[in-house]
Amino acid sequence: MVRKTANDTCSYSLYLTNTLSGQKQKFQPYDLNRVTMYVCGPTVYNYAHLGNARSAVVFDLLYRVLRDTYPCVLYTRNFTDVDDKINAAAERTKQSIRDITDRFIKAYRSDMKALGVIPPDFEPRVTDHIPDIISVICCLIDKGHAYVAEGHVLFHVPSFEQYGVLSGRKQTDLMAGGRVEAAPFKHDPADFVLWKPSIPSLPGWESPWGRGRPGWHIECSAMTASCLGLPIDLHGGGQDLIFPHHENEIAQSVSARGGAEYCRFWVHNGFVTVDGRKMSKSLGNVVLVHDLLRETEGETIRLALLSAHYRQPLDWSTELLEQCRRTLERLHRLLSDTDHLSQENITEGFSEPGIVARELYDDLNTPAALKALFGTARSLRHAVSHSERVRLRIELLAGLRLLGLFQENKLTSFQSVPSAFISDMLERRTEARDKRDFAEADRIRELLQAYGVTLEDTLQGTQWHIKTHNVKF
Ligand code: ZN
Repeated sequence: MVRKTANDTCSYSLYLTNTLSGQKQKFQPYDLNRVTMYVCGPTVYNYAHLGNARSAVVFDLLYRVLRDTYPCVLYTRNFTDVDDKINAAAERTKQSIRDITDRFIKAYRSDMKALGVIPPDFEPRVTDHIPDIISVICCLIDKGHAYVAEGHVLFHVPSFEQYGVLSGRKQTDLMAGGRVEAAPFKHDPADFVLWKPSIPSLPGWESPWGRGRPGWHIECSAMTASCLGLPIDLHGGGQDLIFPHHENEIAQSVSARGGAEYCRFWVHNGFVTVDGRKMSKSLGNVVLVHDLLRETEGETIRLALLSAHYRQPLDWSTELLEQCRRTLERLHRLLSDTDHLSQENITEGFSEPGIVARELYDDLNTPAALKALFGTARSLRHAVSHSERVRLRIELLAGLRLLGLFQENKLTSFQSVPSAFISDMLERRTEARDKRDFAEADRIRELLQAYGVTLEDTLQGTQWHIKTHNVKF
């Protein structure tokens, strides 16, 4: 795949279903040179189940497609490491909260790596962003969207006229959903918690409202702003997060920004069912990736997770897994049988996206992309002409790579901005400085800053690093 440069926008357009409009729309970032994406990550008190894994794999695929299209994509996926479920697990297992969250963050990273998920550029933990959270809450109180009551801070839902813009649900549904407790100190039953008091045995931080901890929704508003800067281009998560989590995130962030836009595209993936039934603790059918990986290759699980369109429910079964295992085995055999063709180096005819990419540009249509991939494999098996076989093999490999299958064990974290681009810019800046053209040197510094790359001139030369943004509403 050819990585696009800043001035070379893709000839193909990416279309995604935007939950905000309910329509499939052309994806248009605010800045072609700096695409930003935030996905709600797991609450870390247990191993990742298939629902967590589906979200991670779907958005990993979207990240790959975006990186294939734009020169700089910044992806943030958080860890929720403050939660009542974590507190309960700590009490049950007599372990410290930090030990539990550290252990399951490590396990999550290792399981996702096995599934071919590229580490996001930023993986913030809520506990590292408490000052950012407090600062957003202060801003909401100042603007009259939140109030303090009995050690709690609550968001006043009627203060935000657009409430329901994402889910289409009314404020009163909050109560009907049973996810909000009716507390006597609420000004409106739909108001939700931004900050709550903590007893000494529970995690807590000093705040203007006493020792306490944040509510769930406010975390993501604060971490999005802190890691990516606002507004962002794309926000993702499972369909179960549309309401109330993402609806509340919009209410918080847009209100804190005085009505300015928070995020342009909202993308949600469907549920995983197991043998036709909802996966739930009470049914005892929750499948953990950690357990699956004992006997199944990560790439088989990945293929199974990508076999249904991301917006549709995915029904998990041993038959599906076995079918994916056999498919991959056949593909591995084909690539090994045609390995002698890999020496050929042809680039002609590859300036356009491959057939797999074209299907993925259409709302990440993985069933169609896989059909195209298998079609290429079939053609390769039957092709007679040498040049045709070489071309088909390259096309097959490009498709597999884009889908994140057949990893080459290179899943270390990477900078989204190609380091070659940064080096090139640094060289040009040094040349400009040597010529005492400080305006040009400053221009390059600013250009890199737009990519999130900050420069530091030291005695050893110019050093660069990708820096997170400070919260700015
Ligand atoms: Zn979230």
